[in-house]
Amino acid sequence: MHDMIHFHALATPKKKAIIDLHTGEAYDYRHADQRVSQIASYLLKAADRKIGARVAVISRNSALMLLLHHACERAGLIFVPLNWRLATPEVAALIEDAQPSVVIWQKEFEAHAEPAFAYAGEAGRIEIDGSGENLAQEEPADFVMPEGIDENDPSTLLYTSGTSGKSKGVIITRKSLTYSTLNFALSAGVSKNSVSLCDMPLFHVAGLFAVARTPIFFGGSVVVSQKFDPVKTFENLTDPKLGITYYFCVTQMAALMREKNAPGAMKKLAHLDVLQTGGAPNPPASVKAWAEDSVRMVDGFGMTEIGSAFSMPPDDMSVIKNKAGSVGMPSPFTEGKVMNAEGKEAGPNEIGELWVRGPSVTAGYWNKPAETAAAFEGEWLKTGDSARKDEDGFYYIVDRTKDMFISGGENIYPVEVEAVLAEMPEILDCAVIGVPDEKWGEVGAAILLLKGGKKSLSAEAVIAFVKSRLAAYKAPKHVRFVDDLPRTPSGKVQKHKLRDSWTG
Ligand code: ATP
Ligand code: MG
Repeated sequence: MHDMIHFHALATPKKKAIIDLHTGEAYDYRHADQRVSQIASYLLKAADRKIGARVAVISRNSALMLLLHHACERAGLIFVPLNWRLATPEVAALIEDAQPSVVIWQKEFEAHAEPAFAYAGEAGRIEIDGSGENLAQEEPADFVMPEGIDENDPSTLLYTSGTSGKSKGVIITRKSLTYSTLNFALSAGVSKNSVSLCDMPLFHVAGLFAVARTPIFFGGSVVVSQKFDPVKTFENLTDPKLGITYYFCVTQMAALMREKNAPGAMKKLAHLDVLQTGGAPNPPASVKAWAEDSVRMVDGFGMTEIGSAFSMPPDDMSVIKNKAGSVGMPSPFTEGKVMNAEGKEAGPNEIGELWVRGPSVTAGYWNKPAETAAAFEGEWLKTGDSARKDEDGFYYIVDRTKDMFISGGENIYPVEVEAVLAEMPEILDCAVIGVPDEKWGEVGAAILLLKGGKKSLSAEAVIAFVKSRLAAYKAPKHVRFVDDLPRTPSGKVQKHKLRDSWTG
């Protein structure tokens, strides 16, 4: 079984593995390997030597979180990073689901950790400061993985973003984790030469697996940052001392970076091997704007349940431009297909539900046999997203099937309308939802966030703009301006919240 930190500790002991911008720590592979051993040994004792026990971690992004992730893997424990931004009762529900034997928290999150004391005894309650330097220092630095661990054992329990409702615990086995890592690497070109900047949350699939774990797997480096900041992140991305080659963010973060830095500054990101987006729709206009600046922005489609499922190849700028709006092709170890309403594979450009299968796909939801059964058709995971595949084999996500609405008998996919709205220079961010209407059944409501200071846009102008680009029935009937959109920490608009709070 691979233990890549140990492998690189032998091969390239002095090479930087993890740099933590907040604490200033820098771990080379030998040091990281020793700390992973010490922490693995410590955690296994804390978990009463129960292989498969859950280790819940409530922490901001840090190097320690990555050491904990790898230590759990080495010890045969299940790593369960929790979203610290949730309210305490929400965290309590996840803890009740995971029943961790060990809970690790940063001081400020003590209230979040307390519900875990029902499952974690004295030895399993671990408060940490920022760096965790004091953790497990007395333990052996040459801990070896215990016998009896199988590749089909769970390695990580990751909770979904909760975009469409309640978060579900996704079981990621050791084997699916490996294939997930290979998928991320092969589709984004991550290698031992990669240096990634990780300010996506480490409790989410994109931050933990794509940005952080993948470069480490190959012997590259990860620079961990606590949070995205449009100006600071841009500085980090262009800092020659850090030498970042790989960055992942959601579209909205990229748009903010462009908005908050000097005009033309984004050209300085042309040195990146890839600026990957994913997790939420990236409109073609955005990809094209970045391509104009010679930045290789490529979109990928991923899910907690699969890791990277589809990805645009970052190598050829003309492909990036021609296929702007596409999430690319299935990742190397993944198969995809689009299924139409008749239950048959859809033809070119026909919209249907996206199904995927492959070794990175989850074994199922933790404690949720009914949800697991409903999500699969044999080996195929039904994503709940509508998509189409063009005649060249490139896939396009149309929308979450649940977000589609029907107005006067016509299907409307909000993402299509949002992509048009994104072309209006005044608009920074937007969401379109279907809302009840007496005449049409449902109509579109556009909820808009304008760029700094520009408050002059009228609802009529917005509607007219959409009508100039799309069939009139797709134009929103309502337009609202807001200061903020409800988002998950991984950056997605929570449309169910917008729908629930819609008052007509
Ligand atoms: P929950 O399952 O709890 O509602 P979630 O589905 O947002 O939350 P994730 O696993 O983080 O949880 O996200 C996967 C979903 O994100 C996909 O099913 C899809 O709807 C959306 N998504 C991911 N990548 C893209 C993309 N490139 N374009 C459009 N949508 C995307
Ligand atoms: Mg989901």
